[in-house]
Amino acid sequence: MAAGDKSPMNDVIVVGAGPAGSIAALVLARAGIRVRMFDRATFPRDKLCGDTVNPGAMDILRRLGLAPVTAGALPVAGMIVTDGAGVRCVGRYVNDQRGSALRRVALDLALLEAAIEAGVAFEHGVLVRGPWVDGQTVRGVSVAGANGAERRIPARMVIAADGAGSRLARALSLAGHSRRPRRWAVGAYFDGVGNDIRDDVLGEMHIREGRYLGIAPMPGGITNSCVVTSDRAALRDPRTLLCEAFRRDRMLGDRFHGARLLNAPVCLGPLAVESSASGMPGLLLAGDAAGFIDPMTGDGLRFAFRGAELAASMTIEALRDGKADVHRDLDKARRREFAAKWRFNRCLRTLVASPRGLKMAALGATWSPVLLERIIQYAGDARR
Ligand SMILES: Cc1cc2nc3c(=O)[nH]c(=O)nc-3n(C[C@H](O)[C@H](O)[C@H](O)COP(=O)(O)OP(=O)(O)OC[C@H]3O[C@@H](n4cnc5c(N)ncnc54)[C@H](O)[C@@H]3O)c2cc1C
Repeated sequence: MAAGDKSPMNDVIVVGAGPAGSIAALVLARAGIRVRMFDRATFPRDKLCGDTVNPGAMDILRRLGLAPVTAGALPVAGMIVTDGAGVRCVGRYVNDQRGSALRRVALDLALLEAAIEAGVAFEHGVLVRGPWVDGQTVRGVSVAGANGAERRIPARMVIAADGAGSRLARALSLAGHSRRPRRWAVGAYFDGVGNDIRDDVLGEMHIREGRYLGIAPMPGGITNSCVVTSDRAALRDPRTLLCEAFRRDRMLGDRFHGARLLNAPVCLGPLAVESSASGMPGLLLAGDAAGFIDPMTGDGLRFAFRGAELAASMTIEALRDGKADVHRDLDKARRREFAAKWRFNRCLRTLVASPRGLKMAALGATWSPVLLERIIQYAGDARR
């Protein structure tokens, strides 16, 4: 039997205090709305990521007055892209735009602190078990209470920002992992990795048959190194997979030769999440919970930041006007703003997934480095 919550009705409950949850909660709290946010993890908590915030995502942080959350980050001037056949292209963001490289454990904590400072009531270590649905409307959430009992917490609106494995989106059949592509990620930090370029900080994407390798230099001289693979069986031994992918690589091996693994590799996947709608009456999705294609383009945080802003502004409308179908407006707004980039990401992912496509892409990059530079600008959501 579910027990009711004794505290006064919340305007909004946000589930998940990752970047999407913290930004949605912060925007709502700044608008004078009472927000309660839960996360199952205890903060500070880490999250497997390439740890780069692209220039487009930096623009959003600045607009929200949140640029200080990246204090201490390395400024990222562009990207290096290679293929296994020896093609190597460097693309710098135009007009001195910069991304940021910093560990998610620091970024997410700083965003959460900004949300709390804006007035959000936050509780960590709280597992949200599912939505509380009454007919066709979400009325709040159920959380794990004392002695394993379920506790219902009512709210006028819920924002599900509980990540790619979203329990809420799944329970409501709003999103789930796509059948294809099936890819998994493994990542960790190394120290002692040799630099590719000395005078600038660049993100790196190394595309190989059946997988790709991401590298990002981090503050403190350590290096974020991730492998994304379609070979699930290889994940049984993530340490070997990660170390061999870098040490045995023809172009990267020398740089990782004396490098030391600093933590146990973390695995995630399957990665791709597809959503059928952006919410339903009483609930909106934000961040990876609303869909995630692939980390190759390094723009998940921009989608999370902007998607959270959109979900927050639709929530404000729902509370102000009593509108029940703001999830449809959110659908339209997300399509309007994101559809072109989703198409681009899908094309890129499909192109590099086949050996023939990869060869064509490498030829194109050799023949026209300007084209590759344009692709890097667009992938980084940089202003042209
Ligand atoms: C390998 C890899 C590399 C990537 N590299 C980059 C990159 O370099 N740049 C970039 O922009 N993007 C990158 N991304 C994407 C980026 O990590 C995500 O898009 C981003 O984390 C989405 O933020 P979010 O807030 O939606 O979800 P998350 O950051 O996953 O946060 C979700 C939160 O919800 C909480 N939660 C989950 N379930 C519950 C529950 N039931 N109850 C309570 N709390 C719950 C979790 O504890 C978590 O804190 C990468 C992704 C991967 C997998």
